[in-house]
This record gives sequence, structure tokens and C-alpha cells, in this order.
Amino acid sequence: MSENSRKVSAETVLTHAGRNPEDQFGFVNTPVYRGSTVLFKTLADIEAQSQPFLYGRAGNPTTETVESVVNELEGAYRTKLVPSGLAAITIALMSCVRAGNDILISDSAYEPGRKFADGYLERMGVSVRYYDPRIGEGLADLINVNTKAVLAESPGSLTFEVQDIPALARAAHAGGARLIVDNSWATPLYHQPLALGADIVVHAATKMFVGHSDVMAGTISSTQEAWPDVDRVRTLLGFFTSGDDAFLVARGLRTLAIRMREHQQRAIEIANWLEQQDEVSAVLHPALPSHPDHALWKRDFTGSGSLFGVVLKPAPRDAVAAFVDHLELFSMGYSWGGYESLCLPVMIKKARTVRPWADEGNLFRLHIGLEGVDDLKADLAAALQRYSAAR
Ligand SMILES: *Cc1c(COP(=O)(O)O)cnc(C)c1O
Repeated sequence: MSENSRKVSAETVLTHAGRNPEDQFGFVNTPVYRGSTVLFKTLADIEAQSQPFLYGRAGNPTTETVESVVNELEGAYRTKLVPSGLAAITIALMSCVRAGNDILISDSAYEPGRKFADGYLERMGVSVRYYDPRIGEGLADLINVNTKAVLAESPGSLTFEVQDIPALARAAHAGGARLIVDNSWATPLYHQPLALGADIVVHAATKMFVGHSDVMAGTISSTQEAWPDVDRVRTLLGFFTSGDDAFLVARGLRTLAIRMREHQQRAIEIANWLEQQDEVSAVLHPALPSHPDHALWKRDFTGSGSLFGVVLKPAPRDAVAAFVDHLELFSMGYSWGGYESLCLPVMIKKARTVRPWADEGNLFRLHIGLEGVDDLKADLAAALQRYSAAR
């Protein structure tokens, strides 16, 4: 688009970006490119290294399709497709630090990312600390001279605290650290952390981008200033995503906007309904007025995702089993973002260090899929009855 032309909508970016049918004999989609070797014609060509693709590991036209779409939506300088959401987090953290540095991770952050920091970065001489996800401006007090990265996840995908990204970015930058944001929940359709001051944005593309529970992938996007460090780490580590996987991510992205709208609406309807149920002590959904961070969500987000938490009144393990073991439409499993609904019991106490989880109730995480809303409610209503009977 030319500079003075109107900014196109996200829906148009999703449907038109990253493909060029003229290069593909008129076929609408960039096909699956499979390949390791890329051929050069002359000595001058191999010396110049100026071909768009040089070797399979660095990417191919199929992976580039996904990268163009996500890059435009995030308003990033560059984006790379990587093998998983966790790979995006590990690359992002490694791009900021060297031995002797320090990082700060939100206590609400995705657990495998924490394990990478504790189990690997610590061993490489990086100190790892955790902070209260609701710390906001107070982060400034935790930044030391050697703090180089702050990892945020907003909202946290188990406990749903919304983080004050502009405040975290100001505090991080004042202390010479970069802010990394995991934006998997909202997707760039509803939240754009780079515009709010973040330096690096990561996605578990496995979730909403793919949308069909059939591929693992991640993306990492950044500002121009952070990109050389991100790209160097990714290249040095040899991460690669296949054209087959990239094709399925691209396919998912084309319908992201309409899927998100449906997931959002159904999730809000079910969250509101759950709030009225006897066995429920809290619903953790930032779009509900009852959520402690609702005002912050309204300020910084334009929509909400498929995923939220529900806390049921305290009850022994048997009641939790009664709730989940006989669900008919909701299935139990990790991950989320597919067309099918999921319900996961969350053992939250073990996952926190800075801000212990005080609620005595049982926390479940729901991903609301594309089934009929009344059918989903009936499944949950029956589960609540079983829970009540076992309590
Ligand atoms: C699943 C998830 C990840 C990791 O993504 P994978 O593709 O499973 O590695 C990271 N962040 C969040 C919020 C997630 O839900």
C-alpha cells in the first residue's frame, strides 16, 4: 500500500497478505515448498548471496507467507516462524542476555518458559527472578543494572491477570532492558504490544493461528532495534519450520478473524452464564466487569480470546474428577485454540512463586470452541451438578 493510502483492516491483511498468485501459476495459495538445497547458477551468484533463498533452514516461500501476515498484523519490523511457541520464548530470552545478566519473568507466565529460564539460562550464568504480574510501574524497583529482559504474558493463560504493558515497557527501557510479550491469548487482532512499547512479541501459533489442533508452530516478531539479536540467535540455533507445517499455519490464519469473533462471543456468553451458577466462586475473564483488571483490558485490548478460568467452590479431589471425567463435549488436554472445546483442571499452587495463589477453590481452564453454545452449557451444567453432589 502506498503511504498516503488508507490503512486496510486486519481482515483484509489476513486474506491478502503474504501470497502472490502470479508467482504460483495463478494458484491462490503459496504451495508447500519442501527443500534443503537451493541452487546457484554461477560463482558470482554464490558469492553475492543475494538470492531470496539460500538454504532450506533459513526458510522458504511457504514459511515467508506466514511471516508476512503476522508481521503486518503485529506492526513489527520482521517476523520469523519457529517450530513452537516455546521456541519463540526461548529465542526471545536468549536474544537479550549473556552470562552475568539478569531477567524478570511474570509469575503468571507459561510454565515451560519458566522451566527454560530456571533449568537452562541459570546454568549459563543468567539470574532469573519472577515478578507480580500486576506490578505495573513498580517493576522499576526490581530492575538492576544487569537486567536485560522482562517477560510478560497478558493475560496469563492460567490465571488471566492483565498486565500493564506501557508501564512495564517504560520501566524496562529506563533500566536498559527489553520487554518481551507473549500475545497468544488476544492475537494481534485484539492486542498489539509493539505499539504499546514492547520490543519483542511471541506467539504460540499452535493455538489460535493454526486453529485446528493439528500443527505445532510459533512466531517471533520485533522492532528494528531488537531484530538483529533475535535473528542471530534463531539462525545460530538452527531452528527450522517445514513448508508442510507453514502451509497449515497460513491456512489457519486466513480465517483467524472470523474464528476469533465466534470464540470471543461464545466464551463471553458462557463466562457470564457460569458467573450465575451456585458452585462457581469466580470467573477469570478480563472482558467481564467483575474481573479485577477489566479497566486495563478495556484500555489496551479491542477484544478477548477463547480462553478463561473458572474457580469452583472448595471441594475434594473426587469432586474435581466428577466434574471432568464425564464431560461429553469438553475434552481434557493441554494446548487450546482449536475448533473443539477443552477443559483443564489447573494445579495452580505449584506454578507460582512470587504471588502465591490464595484461592482455596478448584481452578479449571476452559477453551470455548465452535460447538453450539447451548450444548456446551448443558455439558457444563451436568458437570456442575456432579461436582455439587460430590462436594
Ligand atoms: C501453548 C503456549 C505456549 C507454547 O506454545 P507451544 O507451541 O505449545 O510450544 C506459549 N505461550 C502460551 C500462552 C501458550 O498457551
